[in-house]
Parts: sequence; C-alpha cells; structure tokens
Amino acid sequence: MRLCRFNDDRLGVVDGAEVCDVTAALDILPPYRYPLPHGDMLIAHLPAIRMRAAELVPAAPRLPLSAVRLLSPVANPGKVIGAPVNYLKHLEEVREQRALNHGNASHSAPIHTAGVFLKATRSVVGPGEGVAVRYPDRRTDHEVELGLVIGRRASEVPVHDALSYVAGYVIGLDITIRGSEERSLRKSVDSYTVIGPWLVTADDIEEPGALDMRLTVNGEVRQQASTALLIMNCAELIAYASSFYTLEPGDILITGTPEGVSPIVPGDRIEARISQVGEMTVAVRPW
Ligand code: MN
Repeated sequence: MRLCRFNDDRLGVVDGAEVCDVTAALDILPPYRYPLPHGDMLIAHLPAIRMRAAELVPAAPRLPLSAVRLLSPVANPGKVIGAPVNYLKHLEEVREQRALNHGNASHSAPIHTAGVFLKATRSVVGPGEGVAVRYPDRRTDHEVELGLVIGRRASEVPVHDALSYVAGYVIGLDITIRGSEERSLRKSVDSYTVIGPWLVTADDIEEPGALDMRLTVNGEVRQQASTALLIMNCAELIAYASSFYTLEPGDILITGTPEGVSPIVPGDRIEARISQVGEMTVAVRPW
C-alpha cells in the first residue's frame, strides 16, 4: 500500500495517478494527552490504519496526484538518523574534493568509522513543500537516499531480524551545506530533509537492497546508483543504530547517498526516483 499525507494533513492511499482520501481512517487513533508517547502515532498504529483505509478506499473521494501538495508521509518522526559515506564511490569523491571534505578527515571516513548521525526532525518536509536555501553564499548539495521508516520499537536487534522492524520505505533527500561544521548542524536547516513522495509499506518491497535510484536537477542526471552498492545495508544499519538508540515507530533512517552530489540553487527543480518506491519533484527556492 502507498500511503501519503497531502494538502492540509489529509491521509491518502495512492492508486495509480490518483489519491483516495481516507482521512477518516485517522479516527481510529486513540485520543492523546500530554505527555505524548514516543514515536509517530500514525506509524505506531499502522496495521489498524491500513485495515481501515482499505475499507474506505472503494467509496473514497479521488483526486489526481498531480493536483495535491504532498507532505512527508511521517508527520512526527522522533528521530531522523543519517548514514554518512555509505557508498564507496561517494567516499572516493569526498576524499578527492576539498569542496566536500573541507580538510576534515572525519568528513571522509567510511561509515564503519564515522557511525551514524542525527538530523533535527524540524527539518523534515514533503516534496510539495520544497527546499528553501538558507545560506545562498555557501555550497548546498542534494543527496538522494533510500529511506526506511521503523514500524515498531527496536533495541539491539540482530541483523537477520532487522528488516522485520521496517514499516515501509520512502525517498529521502538529505540536503547538505558543505563546510567544516558538524553534520547535524549543516543538514538540519528547516526543509533540508525531504521525505516522500509517500510511504510504500514494507510488504510491497521484497528486497530493499536491489533498488535503482536516480536524481536529476533541471532534467540533467546527477546521481544514479543501486542500493546493492550500499556499504552497510538496510538490515545492518538498523542493527547498528539500534545498538545505540532505541528506535521507535516513525523513526526515519536515511541510508546514505551515492556519488554525484552537486550544488543546488533557488529556481532549480529536483526529480528523485527510486524503483518500487516512486518518483517526486521538489522545487528549490530562496529562504
Ligand atoms: Mn546523506
């Protein structure tokens, strides 16, 4: 199932080029009072939401996908976990280009040395919201990545069982200011984590380690690779991250970007595609 959030927080099931409005499925969520539980409420109740959404689809109002504004399918991720330098060819380009490594050895260490990092959850937007460039005088890059959304609480999970904790998959754009500061700072500007176009539930993707991804800017191909080339694969990343953090429903793990990162400027139009997940268009604008 492809689940999206659109317009003013409507819930949709994507069916071909249309969106079925199943917002009424949200009525099954329990009423909440402060303090809220950890995690994203929709993802924490995904099995029940899916069942109710499927019941609503036949009579649901339908809108053309092209006419809706897509938001992040996860509204309230508790964590966004990033994987630095998780493709060999990206490691090579970071080592070769001072504009990417800024003379900082920790910027060009592979993932087994560098570990993972956190992005501010406030940076998460959907493709319909676009990216607002906060420092136009500094190099700001696109990074296309396969993202996965955790479906249930995970702590110290073994690699062989790790994919059973995945609720679904998304495309992630890890927008990055190049420079000498910590990754978490340079990658956490509002709108610098684009998540979309929808959540593809895990049962629709048998092998996340064999997906083709491509990113174009203004129609020009900049990044093209397969998740088969990940240094630390999806299961290994979940196991590794869960050895440091308790993962909660709705936590998003973006798995790292392949080679071809390059600058974006206001006015650019990014198109990102991952096979079996989907395709999204993201506009870049001034702050
Ligand atoms: Mn990245």
